[in-house]
Amino acid sequence: MLQDLARQRIDHLFSLAIRTAHSRPDLSDRYVAMALKLSERTRVRLPRRWRYFVCRSCKRFLYPGTTARVRIQQRRSPHAVVTCLRCGEIKRYLLKGGGKSEGEGKQ
Ligand SMILES: [Zn+2]
Repeated sequence: MLQDLARQRIDHLFSLAIRTAHSRPDLSDRYVAMALKLSERTRVRLPRRWRYFVCRSCKRFLYPGTTARVRIQQRRSPHAVVTCLRCGEIKRYLLKGGGKSEGEGKQ
């Protein structure tokens, strides 16, 4: 089926983007752009795990340590704050589930 193929292709493009994130961030952006276009054209929704890696605003690849900054905030409920280093867009994700909290409750 076309949609299955598209899904595989999207997975592949994102794994390429991750692989090239450090050495060729420009390529990562190209892969992500292709994946987004494909998902639009085929109406395949981007899997949640990949949505974390795309900036909502500039649609470029968000990768912690290169194109994104990730901070953990402990205020109220613990959440991660992801900042796109290229357009400044900020996303917040609640961190749920048990597990040890990572100390360091500054701010
Ligand atoms: Zn951005």
